[in-house]
Amino acid sequence: METSLPQSFVADQLGASTEEYDLVVIGGGSGGLACSKEASSLGARVAVLDFVDPSPRGTKWGLGGTCVNVGCIPKKLMHHAALSGESMRGAAHYGWKVPPDVPHSWGVLADAVQNHVRSLNWGHRVQLKDKNVEYFNAKGFLVDPNTVKATTAKGKETLLHAKNVVVATGMRPSYPTEVPGAMEYAISSDDIFWMKKPPGKTLVVGASYVALETASFLTGLGYDATAMVRSIPLRGFDQQMAEHVLSHMQEHGTKILHQCVPSAIHSTDSNSPLRVEWLAADGSKAEDSFDTVMMAIGRTPETHSIGLKEIGVQMDAQGFVVGTHHEEAERTSVENVFAIGDILQGRQELTPVAIRAGKLLAHRLFNQSNVQMDYHLVPTTVFTSIEYSCVGLSEEEAEASLGCDAIEIYHAYYKPLEYVIPQKDAQHCYLKVITQRDQPQRVLGMHLLGPNAGEVLQGFAVALRAGLTYETLSSTVGIHPTSAEEMVKVH
Ligand code: NDP
Repeated sequence: METSLPQSFVADQLGASTEEYDLVVIGGGSGGLACSKEASSLGARVAVLDFVDPSPRGTKWGLGGTCVNVGCIPKKLMHHAALSGESMRGAAHYGWKVPPDVPHSWGVLADAVQNHVRSLNWGHRVQLKDKNVEYFNAKGFLVDPNTVKATTAKGKETLLHAKNVVVATGMRPSYPTEVPGAMEYAISSDDIFWMKKPPGKTLVVGASYVALETASFLTGLGYDATAMVRSIPLRGFDQQMAEHVLSHMQEHGTKILHQCVPSAIHSTDSNSPLRVEWLAADGSKAEDSFDTVMMAIGRTPETHSIGLKEIGVQMDAQGFVVGTHHEEAERTSVENVFAIGDILQGRQELTPVAIRAGKLLAHRLFNQSNVQMDYHLVPTTVFTSIEYSCVGLSEEEAEASLGCDAIEIYHAYYKPLEYVIPQKDAQHCYLKVITQRDQPQRVLGMHLLGPNAGEVLQGFAVALRAGLTYETLSSTVGIHPTSAEEMVKVH
């Protein structure tokens, strides 16, 4: 996947690199790249190390981390591809002559997505060069708090001396090792976007962002897709909204297996479908054949083999780095070693969070800033067949923290104008605004289901951070005709 750059730029200078760096960043994902570029632009001497072992199915990454290679970017493109099909079918109602069964080519889509990802890999390398960040395509290991050993794929080792180290190694998909056949035959989200042949009939195990988004876009692309839900879909999100997401997915063709876990995966030969056995919560067993089985059961911090434990960085049982300083979340238990992004315990596993935390850390280290990352009121979107975007508290969280009597909830169903002519069912287009009951009725949470929910909610997240009240929200003039105006009309 990696494209080649002139040898003088890629750090083939390993071995010679014994100089002191102000900052060595381990991990070239969203957070690590943002932190290293910002630090360099502030005058620091910076090196960034990036090396990702291939997935169990052999998928290799380029520079840019999960988001670029196997996460947000390819996922959103495939989500958009699925929505394009839906929009094309609806276009007949607007007078376009659309043949009844327009075939979709997985190969064309996968090529387009992969080419874009490769261009981003290249772009990140060029940006590092432009920003004077030294890039090492090598795995980092902390020999001591100020020394990082860089090891290339060919085993060449170099010691880098660092005044500060930022660890931004992210997470890797987890596999249910207790399920026979899972390691051998199942893929993960690392592989789905890089499959050469169409996935065919697919089972996605899991019920959070990754699982539901993948099952949604596969369904939208015309594949027979099933999501296997162990317990609560979209755990941690507003559960009324989560139910809408699941219902919408089901009504649009995704099969949902509730309260089930896989118990075994068998393969007779590489050309035959996989045989999957599963167990339901009521003790019943069932089985079916699938061309592809994808595990989306969560992710494990990539912190076990980089020397963190050995130098005394405090981590929890799952391998998340514990931020031990009350005032500065990213500071670890070892002076001058910092952690950002997904590996930080209790923080959102989201690209923009890692980027912001990385930039702010660079300013604290090299620009005498004392501005800390604010992990509150972070908006997010689940890109399922109906998009769900939210910021702030869910109804469950608001009730738990303030009590039912102290909150007021405004909600509405709405019909997007673009649904009218294609006669699309709008029963899951729904929004909810959660406020404090007492004046000044601060808005605590906003939730939106519908087209472009993420685009709509970004601006409202700004308002929430600025202390939005229900009075301000409801006295704002809407933009007509949009779905966004429904947020200010809610009463
Ligand atoms: P999560 O950790 O959020 O969820 C794991 C899911 O797998 C849960 O539904 C869990 O069910 C289920 N599960 C866990 N173990 C098993 C098992 N042994 N058998 C069956 N099911 C199991 O994982 P994700 O990988 O989906 O997401 C990771 C993070 O990535 C998210 O927190 C999010 O921040 C980020 N992300 C963000 C996206 C976005 O912004 N749009 C998109 C994708 C990811 P149970 O509830 O029963 O434990």
